[in-house]
Amino acid sequence: MRRSLYEPDHEAYRDTVREFLAREVVPHHEDWDRDRWIDRAVFARAAKAGIYALQIPEEYGGAGEPDYRYRMVVCEEVARVNALSFGVTISLQDDLVLHYLLDLTNDEQKRRWLPGFTAGELIGALAMTEPGAGSDLRGIRTTAVRDSDRWILNGQKTFISSGIMADLVVVAARTGEKLSLFVVERDAPGFERGRKLDKIGLPGQDTAELYFRDAEVPAAHLLGEEGHGLRYLMSHLPRERLGVTAEAMATTRAIFEQTAEYCRQRQAFGAPLTDKQHIRFELAEMATEIDVAQSFVDQSVIAYNAGELTPIDAAKGKWFVSELQKRVLDRCLQLHGGYGYMLEYPVARAYVDTRVKTIYGGTTEIMKEIIGRDIAAG
Ligand SMILES: Cc1cc2nc3c(=O)[nH]c(=O)nc-3n(C[C@H](O)[C@H](O)[C@H](O)COP(=O)(O)OP(=O)(O)OC[C@H]3O[C@@H](n4cnc5c(N)ncnc54)[C@H](O)[C@@H]3O)c2cc1C
Repeated sequence: MRRSLYEPDHEAYRDTVREFLAREVVPHHEDWDRDRWIDRAVFARAAKAGIYALQIPEEYGGAGEPDYRYRMVVCEEVARVNALSFGVTISLQDDLVLHYLLDLTNDEQKRRWLPGFTAGELIGALAMTEPGAGSDLRGIRTTAVRDSDRWILNGQKTFISSGIMADLVVVAARTGEKLSLFVVERDAPGFERGRKLDKIGLPGQDTAELYFRDAEVPAAHLLGEEGHGLRYLMSHLPRERLGVTAEAMATTRAIFEQTAEYCRQRQAFGAPLTDKQHIRFELAEMATEIDVAQSFVDQSVIAYNAGELTPIDAAKGKWFVSELQKRVLDRCLQLHGGYGYMLEYPVARAYVDTRVKTIYGGTTEIMKEIIGRDIAAG
């Protein structure tokens, strides 16, 4: 189905992104996944080329461009070349960390962190999850206690994306009964990295444990107001969820298109796979589901740009599209036969890399809770 989301500027930007990925990412991505580490220098090059951090105001070196359609273009181009470890790291910056730094910082904090972010020299992470607190953030046990001009943090975080690479981490900690958010910089005394966790997918993208043992954080690194942390997290989750939805949609479509081409080429019983009605029906069902879901995603982007994407609609897109991705990729893998199980085929890599999308950013079950509670409330 023809989409009407983009304008000529977005298509021109697509050429820039495609050229950047072909030059700076595609030749190295396999090595990064094998080494379980992305060469940091690529982020500075990506930021310079405008691949991310576009929305940072011009006075801090950015382009001051908040239009989410540019993010969508990046998601689609990353999916097309299957550079998912790189893509997720970029998404973490744009869809997750940056918005806390844009929305909750005072001028002094903006001057401290935004220029480095714009230059791609500062990599960020967001640390909410703990061993005893995932879906239920009210279970967070990490504490922050004020001690004259600093805060002393104690506790442990887990599953933190870019936890090893990050130069600054937005940390949710308990200040008395309520949560507050802090920016913890790389060299804060008492801040230690734990294990780099071994995952089934996204090997290039690091996921880590973090420890705070009497970690010292300057008082000036409190984000927003003390005690408002839970509200800040809740108000920023729709953007994070839109990011997961946009990536999932793009990967689903890209892998489907590669699979359709594979089925047209692959011969079995003396004819292309697409000669079999079952295969055509498989492809027809997937193509339909993808187009229907894409309409919702494109509409979500328009709503987000207008400041009207509700937490409920963001939750609907997140669970539906990430579950669609899971179904479609499984069917696409099957249509590749044994080749679908080989990591050299994009479908195999995407199958493991994307599995996490129904889990992080809020699980499918929690998305349904959010939607269901809203319906029950009438
Ligand atoms: C690769 C990866 C990267 C991540 N990156 C980050 C990050 O950068 N920062 C960060 O803070 N966190 C991150 N996370 C953590 C992620 O957000 C959590 O794993 C997720 O929110 C689920 O929490 P949990 O793992 O504790 O599962 P649990 O909350 O223990 O849930 C276990 C199961 O129970 C279900 N469940 C829980 N409560 C309910 C309920 N009320 N009703 C029905 N079912 C329920 C869940 O849906 C799930 O299926 C990451 C996780 C992974 C795997």
